[in-house]
Amino acid sequence: MAHSLPIQYDFSLRKHNTFGVEASAHAYLPVTSTDMLVAVKSDATLAALPRLVLGGGSNILLTRDFPGLVLHMETRGMAIIGADEEATYVRAAAGESWHQFVLWTLAQGLGGLENLSLIPGSVGAAPIQNIGAYGIEIKDRFHALTLFDFETGEQVTLDKDACMFGYRDSVFKHRLRDRAVVLDVTFALPKKWQPDLRYADVTQELAARGISEPTAQDISVAVIAIRTRKLPDPAVIGNAGSFFKNPVVTTVQRDALLARYPQLVNYAQPDGSVKLAAGWLIDQCGWKGKTAGAAGVYEKQALVLVNRGGASGSEIAQLAHAIQADVSKHFDVLLEPEPIFL
Ligand SMILES: Cc1cc2nc3c(=O)[nH]c(=O)nc-3n(C[C@H](O)[C@H](O)[C@H](O)COP(=O)(O)OP(=O)(O)OC[C@H]3O[C@@H](n4cnc5c(N)ncnc54)[C@H](O)[C@@H]3O)c2cc1C
Repeated sequence: MAHSLPIQYDFSLRKHNTFGVEASAHAYLPVTSTDMLVAVKSDATLAALPRLVLGGGSNILLTRDFPGLVLHMETRGMAIIGADEEATYVRAAAGESWHQFVLWTLAQGLGGLENLSLIPGSVGAAPIQNIGAYGIEIKDRFHALTLFDFETGEQVTLDKDACMFGYRDSVFKHRLRDRAVVLDVTFALPKKWQPDLRYADVTQELAARGISEPTAQDISVAVIAIRTRKLPDPAVIGNAGSFFKNPVVTTVQRDALLARYPQLVNYAQPDGSVKLAAGWLIDQCGWKGKTAGAAGVYEKQALVLVNRGGASGSEIAQLAHAIQADVSKHFDVLLEPEPIFL
């Protein structure tokens, strides 16, 4: 069966990761149908290889060549699949660009995903870390997804509870890791749309544009403008967005830190825990704008690590470890990376 699959060997992944680091895959398969996954599973040689499911490569750090099979999701398709009193249901294939999908929903007159405009990557990867921005996470709009289970060879539908979404977290980083390939995702977009304006950045941008009663489209345009100003474009300077999660601590830990650092940036969470701004912690340790070899910390945002040109994945990983050690020494807080290290 394998001979009919368009597999390429010793394939460069440099153009398939937004850090732009050089690393190669032993084998690489652009996946355009579920049948191709079935064919991989039924080929003993291919099925035995380590697997990496790849979307846009905007949340991975390749620290070495990948010794297995890369399944690059290139499936396409977006559709409105139904509606009830509460919501309109829209489905997109895993290989679609997330941002193009958001723009497509808005062009259909459907609000709900506008705060998540311009997040790089694919639709299929969005549930893996429950992507979020400006007060919304995909779990807030998620309905269901279909996956291919490499262990059983079956296609399975998971609802929201089964995905166990958390802060940049889901079942796909735990029980279903290295096993599930997300095939498509269905979202429930609310019939009674309300703008979500809890982030001051967004309200300020809208005010600057003279908009007091924004449409979903207006919010998307505002979010795109803010993100374009704040974040480096991976096409120009390699990066994976926020490199660390905001650490979650108890109120006791927060209060102890506040006694020593009255300026500590922190956000109380509905469950009683407290999120600290990882970017602030890194900035306080003096890392903003620093360079280590060809890796560096972005000048405008200490949370973003960048490839200044020709950095290897392990150089970026070393910089990340140095930052973690420094933040731990100063604040006794462990920073957890957002991208997957490979
Ligand atoms: C400039 C910039 C800004 C960013 N801003 C944000 C932000 O605001 N919020 C946010 O949450 N993230 C943000 N990110 C991170 C990133 O865009 C998201 O995590 C995105 O969902 C990754 O999609 P991807 O297709 O590139 O995934 P990849 O990097 O290709 O893969 C990431 C992980 O998902 C797995 N995966 C990918 N596709 C599938 C699939 N179909 N089935 C099973 N597993 C799969 C991979 O194996 C890997 O473990 C940003 C990144 C950049 C570069």
